[in-house]
Amino acid sequence: AAEFGIGDALNALGIKYNNKGSSTGSNNFGSGHTLASHSPVDGALIAKMDTTSKEDYEKVVSTATSAFKTWRTVPAPQRGEVVRQFGNKLRELKNPLGKLVSYEMGKSYQEGLGEVQEMIDICDFAVGLSRQLHGLTMHSERPGHRMYEQYHPLGVVGIISAFNFPVAVWAWNTALAWVCGDVCIWKPSEKTPLCGVACQNIAAGVLRDNDLPEGISCLVTGDYKVGEYMSQDSRIPLISATGSIRMGKIVAQAVAARLGKSLLELGGNNAIIVTPDADIKMTVIGAVFGAVGTCGQRCTSTRRLIIHESIYGKVKNAIVEAYNQLRIGNPLDENNHVGPLIDQDAVKPYLKALKQVVAEGGKIVVEGGVLEGTGYESGCYVKPAMAEAEANYEIVQQETFAPILYLLKYSGDLENALTIQNGVVQGLSSAIMTNNLREAEHFLSVRGSDCGIANVNIGTSGAEIGGAFGGEKETGGGRESGSDAWKIYMRRQTNTINYTTELPLAQGIKFNL
Ligand code: NAD
Repeated sequence: AAEFGIGDALNALGIKYNNKGSSTGSNNFGSGHTLASHSPVDGALIAKMDTTSKEDYEKVVSTATSAFKTWRTVPAPQRGEVVRQFGNKLRELKNPLGKLVSYEMGKSYQEGLGEVQEMIDICDFAVGLSRQLHGLTMHSERPGHRMYEQYHPLGVVGIISAFNFPVAVWAWNTALAWVCGDVCIWKPSEKTPLCGVACQNIAAGVLRDNDLPEGISCLVTGDYKVGEYMSQDSRIPLISATGSIRMGKIVAQAVAARLGKSLLELGGNNAIIVTPDADIKMTVIGAVFGAVGTCGQRCTSTRRLIIHESIYGKVKNAIVEAYNQLRIGNPLDENNHVGPLIDQDAVKPYLKALKQVVAEGGKIVVEGGVLEGTGYESGCYVKPAMAEAEANYEIVQQETFAPILYLLKYSGDLENALTIQNGVVQGLSSAIMTNNLREAEHFLSVRGSDCGIANVNIGTSGAEIGGAFGGEKETGGGRESGSDAWKIYMRRQTNTINYTTELPLAQGIKFNL
């Protein structure tokens, strides 16, 4: 790691690191058990920290709750100014933070930088939004009355995030929540805790510079147990949770049991439909990046290619050829296309899925397997694999968080491809490759894709800030990062004002005293 400047990056981010992989103390966010962060890139121990105990958690919640009393009274455009400064700090620290994301999570350095860019973009979006937290005004049915609605801050927002976007998902939530006047408590994934520490250090610095209470941004660390403190805590009106469907079902029930609000961003099983009118070159680039980018560990990764039988052979051959050119290795080395999986635990479901697809009758067209030897010592590097399969196989219906692409064939018209595409429980991202306007519009119509994201001539992965991001069905229904996603971070109040000397009742009800 030294040759890639990891030590310097960690120093720039205020993380203690002694170049032998052990931390020297000040990454402590609690008094619970010890959490060690290992890099999937080379297997090295990057740092250790103490996790948040129940007692620590209570302190964090009271710090956040009292910070909210201050923060909610700061005018929204001034809150936007703080977010602007935070975005500028991210610009300054883009390289070291991008490097840490790459080293701790295993995605390519370019993707690490892209993730920090997303954080910067959402800050810019939030700054503008801080002057546009609009409500509507309505005409009252009563004379001399005025009606309008306004949005107030909600309170403490709990953010539970996944390992695969270890910094951007927090920023999507927090930048909007902050301009809305909320304070945030973040539990990053236990697999990428240092990314959490780095972001918290940056946020804390900006808050200090502005003489604002540190509790506006809080970090708790640990596994699902710390997440459970949050989901069951009625002092947290909104839980924004990103992760697996399994986790989402547990969190949603805990939050619903106390009638809280949840914003869920869960798993996907994303498909690209390739019609006879597709541009094959674009299809190959979109499908290969979608399937192997971030080593298949994006919620929007392409998992299924639904190809028309008339061009099936041609598309298959072109994609197999592209797979043969993929270079797998250290993601900090920009010559490589594919980095490691997050840890050795993630290798197991990958191998299991490859076995299962064959057992169900599928045919492997690009062999998978775990890589060994020099450069692959962490045991987390796997070969992107491809299999011909049927849409109804149990394994094809599931999200395996690894670079496995299933080729599915359709015949007849687009309706048949859509039946396959929509025939899964997840509903996150979808795409069609076609130059045929009728097909494209059909795909986007009410009879088309049932996903939260539907793209034409773009792959399934790689969303940009500005559009609302999220998915339907078991993906959870939440929307983040753009459009009117800010509304979930606020409470709405309807106000009716009477400026007459009479007190008429609505609906003309008579009540004479
Ligand atoms: P995961 O569900 O294992 O963990 C996600 C987070 O939830 C972690 O912080 C974890 O500690 C916490 N958690 C787990 N169980 C919990 C519980 N019972 N109560 C409270 N918190 C709990 O997911 P992962 O392996 O980190 O991430 C991969 C998954 O995330 C994939 O399914 C992927 O599709 C999904 N994901 C979705 C989106 C999206 O926007 N839709 C984005 C990124 C990742």
